[in-house]
Amino acid sequence: MCWPKSSEFYYDNKKIVGCGRIAKATLGESATSVMRENVKREIVTHHALRITCLASRAALAARHFHPYRRAVARAASNAFPFTRYRPIVAIYPLRLKPKLDHRLWGGQRLARWLGLPEPLPDDLAEIWLVYAENPILNGPLAGKTLGEAARELGEGLLGSQSIPRYDRDFPQLAKFIDANDRLSIQVHPDDAYAHTVEAHTGFHGKTEAWYILHAEPGATLIYGLKRPSSREEFARAVAEGWLEELVHYLPVQTGDVIFVPAGTLHAINEGILLFEIQQKSDLTYRVYDYNRRGPDGKLRELHLEKALDVIRYEPPAQEKIPPIALEPDRDLLVACPYFALERHRLAQARAYATRPTSFDAWTVIEGAATVAGERLALGQSIVLPAHLGDYLIEPEGTATLLRTYYPDLDADLIGPLHWLGYSDERIAQTVKSA
Ligand SMILES: [Zn+2]
Repeated sequence: MCWPKSSEFYYDNKKIVGCGRIAKATLGESATSVMRENVKREIVTHHALRITCLASRAALAARHFHPYRRAVARAASNAFPFTRYRPIVAIYPLRLKPKLDHRLWGGQRLARWLGLPEPLPDDLAEIWLVYAENPILNGPLAGKTLGEAARELGEGLLGSQSIPRYDRDFPQLAKFIDANDRLSIQVHPDDAYAHTVEAHTGFHGKTEAWYILHAEPGATLIYGLKRPSSREEFARAVAEGWLEELVHYLPVQTGDVIFVPAGTLHAINEGILLFEIQQKSDLTYRVYDYNRRGPDGKLRELHLEKALDVIRYEPPAQEKIPPIALEPDRDLLVACPYFALERHRLAQARAYATRPTSFDAWTVIEGAATVAGERLALGQSIVLPAHLGDYLIEPEGTATLLRTYYPDLDADLIGPLHWLGYSDERIAQTVKSA
């Protein structure tokens, strides 16, 4: 399989150069109709963008707008074709100020791994890397939050895919979690429950996925129930104190991928450092917290009735998610309608392009790299708006990065994976429809 560079693509075996937004596949006789339709749509989009871009670029050049001229032109031209008397909206790589979260169950491992300055905190539990409330650090949008930028730029930042579901909300949360003690046993509702019972909160359901960055020998997660149960039995197990007999302890190793659809009872236990990608939602129902007390000396609130409403009482059908290769050194770790998570190992510079359907968020988990002109050290992230277009990633030596985005499952993943020869069954192990 030979992939074209992102600056070229093929349609009906004809090579077309210079269309960086196009799906990176060589489309031949065997291309699926889904891919064909997608590419046709993208060709139209691309040419429309290019024409309007030229108009805006001329206008902007005349106004000496720099340094984000090209990206600004794209954004302006999308929103206001053929006019130069419109507000200027900046589209450029967004560096965010991460949010450090200190909890009782945190520790020093995350700080040590990232090389944070001494003295190291001994209760660092989470780093929220990509989150709507994180302030932007660079460029014309500095000082605004990612969420404010998303509301301002709309499709220019978010892409078209998440808007029908989330409007202009930034739809994902990506974080590191370092568990030095067991986290509470919990469950999250799905959209249907969130939109009815929790409608007053404005939150959606919460599906999440974990990529294990480091697991101590013998480390486990709680992942679903170990045998079919029922609401009554589960409630009894909690009341009588034998819940731990009902839950499934899943041993994990470094590199494992776990998908946690809404309704799956779960907990991260001690000795695990992981990257988490999830739907942006704050609806968590704690079932059991090992009778621990918070900093205020009180037991943390539990939410048993709601948990009982949403728990899946059947054991999970699949435990770990097998990664699937999209290209050499590019693996899809897991995807669902709310997020896709890819791992890229780079030994040399590689060209990429954002899709009009989604932003790209990148996080360095090994080494360091420059992404779209911004240097990222280990553990740092960047958000590339959907209308940014072509960009480069240049590793320093070798680097491993995680890419998260809001996928169009058929066009971005299932179509290309079929074309690569993967069966429906194999694809379904990694690409989850819900
Ligand atoms: Zn959770």
